[in-house]
Amino acid sequence: MLNLVLFGPPGAGKGTQSAFLVDRYELVHLSTGDLFRFNIKNETELGQLAKSYMDKGQLVPDSVTISMLEDAVNKNPQAKGFIFDGFPRTHGQAQALDAFLEGRSTGITSMVALEVPEDELRVRLAERAKTSGRPDDADPSIIQNRIDVYNAETAPVKDYYEGQAKYQGVDGVGSIEEITDRLVGIIDAL
Ligand code: AMP
Repeated sequence: MLNLVLFGPPGAGKGTQSAFLVDRYELVHLSTGDLFRFNIKNETELGQLAKSYMDKGQLVPDSVTISMLEDAVNKNPQAKGFIFDGFPRTHGQAQALDAFLEGRSTGITSMVALEVPEDELRVRLAERAKTSGRPDDADPSIIQNRIDVYNAETAPVKDYYEGQAKYQGVDGVGSIEEITDRLVGIIDAL
């Protein structure tokens, strides 16, 4: 299986690039943010809980997030592999994902990280807010909170995969096509 963690701060382009990569490598795209938004739209209990964190730009608790992600993997038994987008976002999630995949006799092939400077993220998220309809894109103080949470809790997940020699950084600034080409270059060489 080819199992990729597509990593990077909010606004790095993970969703945009995932769309190309799932087609090219025939992978299943699992975005925990999308799964939460689906639950919010369908007014589930999980959606209600997730919304109370997402609206503030905070992380949804690990226990809830991990079991939701595992359910989503279990629903795709025929998958050739997965792109994990927006997960893992904490050290605990990374450990849980390894244990879960090991139980299925597979593992993470690589973490591929889109590296984008903070100023550029703020500009991109403000631009995305015009069309995304996402409440967490609309308010600059919530955007800043998401970036701060990323720096404090999520960025260290890089060290976890570096420790396994699985981290690959990619320059995330440029045209969409240029960045896709960089990602493909890395993934093809795996
Ligand atoms: P995203 O669509 O990846 O930008 O995620 C939007 C929001 O969903 C985040 O700001 C968090 O509140 C929540 N979220 C998404 N993925 C996770 C995760 N792996 N762990 C905790 N919260 C998450």
